Amino acid sequence: MPELPEVEALVMFLRDRLADRAVVGVEVGSISVLKTFDPPPQALVGAPVTGVARHGKFIDIDCGGTHLVFHLARAGWLRWSEALPATVIRPGKSPIALRVRLDDGSGFDLTEAGTRKRLAAYLVHDPATVPGIATLGPDPLGDGFTGEAFAAILAGQRVQLKGLLRNQGVIAGIGNAYSDEILHVARMSPFALAASLAPEAVAALYAALRDTLSGAVAAASGKPAAELKDAKRAGMRVHGRTGAACPVCGDVVREVSFADSSLQYCATCQTGGKPLADRRTSKFLK
Ligand SMILES: [Zn+2]
Repeated sequence: MPELPEVEALVMFLRDRLADRAVVGVEVGSISVLKTFDPPPQALVGAPVTGVARHGKFIDIDCGGTHLVFHLARAGWLRWSEALPATVIRPGKSPIALRVRLDDGSGFDLTEAGTRKRLAAYLVHDPATVPGIATLGPDPLGDGFTGEAFAAILAGQRVQLKGLLRNQGVIAGIGNAYSDEILHVARMSPFALAASLAPEAVAALYAALRDTLSGAVAAASGKPAAELKDAKRAGMRVHGRTGAACPVCGDVVREVSFADSSLQYCATCQTGGKPLADRRTSKFLK
């Protein structure tokens, strides 16, 4: 799933490719992808692309005042093509959820693998009317996201750090992968309570968050859309690396699994050497 750094890189990529272009066609391949019905997709036809922006993990393409906004969710992706095939995609017959054609023959497809369809696109006059955008917390790479602002966000939050970092209403753009990475850099347990952190720990977590995200944005920027997924995976220290060696201390990277996701961490670096309880391993121990 693309998170803030990959979405930011996609936005930079699209800003470059869509500059001075106009939309000449929009094809909907999956009826469930489009969450709005007014304005209709045809409203984009003939419209010039006037801007590309990011809101958390949402991408917002401004086409002369009508915005195409989309969220790639867990299994969605954007596939760019310098020359899109002429064939018109038909609903229900393709993994392509949405295709946008530009006036020089280039364009992009929004695709989604798997059976759980979560990719969401919206056509709106004001991006703030998209439900997920209206409730977004501050952007962690924004100028206003200072150490003081972060401390104020954490104060009084009697919730675990892992869940807090991923909560889009609290901080925008961090998901399962970068929350694992940030906590590993900060050497903190994913289950530590936000409100219980001492001021020095808050400052350390803030530094880990900014460094991890800005480093990932720097690594992703300039890469074409097709390379971003692999680049993200290659940059991970613990996320998705269960059983591998921690790059800091050499201990094995461990996992805690949940119903539909899992987290990775290093016990030596993050939990004082004590492995966290996991519902799968505890089942074996009974
Ligand atoms: Zn370690």
